[in-house]
Amino acid sequence: MAMKSASKPRAPLVPMGKKRCDDPRIDYKDLTYITKFMTPQAQIQSRRRTSFCAQCQRQLKQAVKRARHVGLLPFVG
Ligand SMILES: [Zn+2]
Repeated sequence: MAMKSASKPRAPLVPMGKKRCDDPRIDYKDLTYITKFMTPQAQIQSRRRTSFCAQCQRQLKQAVKRARHVGLLPFVG
Protein backbone atom coordinates (compact mmCIF):
# COMPACT_ATOMS: atom_id res chain seq x y z
CA MET A 1 0.00 0.00 0.00
CA ALA A 2 1.31 3.41 -0.87
CA MET A 3 1.52 6.14 1.69
CA LYS A 4 -1.67 8.01 2.28
CA SER A 5 -1.61 11.07 0.11
CA ALA A 6 -3.39 14.32 0.79
CA SER A 7 -6.74 14.41 -0.92
CA LYS A 8 -6.44 17.99 -2.03
CA PRO A 9 -3.43 20.19 -2.68
CA ARG A 10 -2.43 22.62 -0.02
CA ALA A 11 -3.14 26.27 -0.45
CA PRO A 12 -0.15 28.32 -1.54
CA LEU A 13 1.83 29.70 1.33
CA VAL A 14 1.50 33.31 0.26
CA PRO A 15 -1.77 33.66 -1.61
CA MET A 16 -2.04 37.41 -1.30
CA GLY A 17 0.81 38.54 -3.46
CA LYS A 18 3.93 39.63 -1.66
CA LYS A 19 2.03 40.46 1.49
CA ARG A 20 4.34 40.13 4.45
CA CYS A 21 3.72 40.90 8.04
CA ASP A 22 6.47 43.49 8.31
CA ASP A 23 3.98 46.28 8.73
CA PRO A 24 0.75 44.89 10.09
CA ARG A 25 -1.34 47.89 11.01
CA ILE A 26 -3.84 45.72 12.79
CA ASP A 27 -6.52 47.81 14.42
CA TYR A 28 -9.91 46.57 15.40
CA LYS A 29 -11.50 49.74 14.00
CA ASP A 30 -9.87 49.25 10.60
CA LEU A 31 -12.48 46.93 9.20
CA THR A 32 -11.42 47.22 5.58
CA TYR A 33 -8.03 45.82 6.55
CA ILE A 34 -9.20 43.20 9.01
CA THR A 35 -11.89 41.77 6.77
CA LYS A 36 -9.25 41.02 4.15
CA PHE A 37 -8.12 38.21 6.46
CA MET A 38 -11.57 36.80 7.06
CA THR A 39 -13.78 34.49 5.14
CA PRO A 40 -17.16 35.66 3.81
CA GLN A 41 -18.62 33.81 6.81
CA ALA A 42 -16.68 36.18 9.09
CA GLN A 43 -14.23 33.52 10.19
CA ILE A 44 -10.61 34.38 10.72
CA GLN A 45 -8.44 32.81 8.09
CA SER A 46 -5.62 30.53 9.08
CA ARG A 47 -1.99 31.57 9.20
CA ARG A 48 -1.41 29.63 6.03
CA ARG A 49 -3.79 31.98 4.26
CA THR A 50 -2.88 35.21 5.96
CA SER A 51 0.89 34.51 5.89
CA PHE A 52 1.17 36.25 9.23
CA CYS A 53 3.71 35.25 11.80
CA ALA A 54 2.46 33.98 15.13
CA GLN A 55 2.58 37.39 16.78
CA CYS A 56 0.68 39.17 14.02
CA GLN A 57 -1.87 36.38 13.75
CA ARG A 58 -2.45 36.74 17.46
CA GLN A 59 -2.94 40.49 17.02
CA LEU A 60 -5.40 39.81 14.23
CA LYS A 61 -7.29 37.35 16.40
CA GLN A 62 -7.50 39.85 19.23
CA ALA A 63 -8.57 42.63 16.86
CA VAL A 64 -11.34 40.52 15.37
CA LYS A 65 -12.60 39.50 18.77
CA ARG A 66 -12.51 43.12 19.86
CA ALA A 67 -14.40 44.23 16.77
CA ARG A 68 -17.01 41.55 17.38
CA HIS A 69 -17.39 42.59 20.97
CA VAL A 70 -18.16 46.19 20.07
CA GLY A 71 -20.46 45.11 17.29
CA LEU A 72 -18.38 46.02 14.25
CA LEU A 73 -18.17 42.44 13.01
CA PRO A 74 -20.65 39.60 13.27
CA PHE A 75 -19.92 36.56 15.39
CA VAL A 76 -21.36 34.40 12.69
CA GLY A 77 -21.88 35.54 9.15
ZN1 LIG B 1 4.38 39.39 11.90
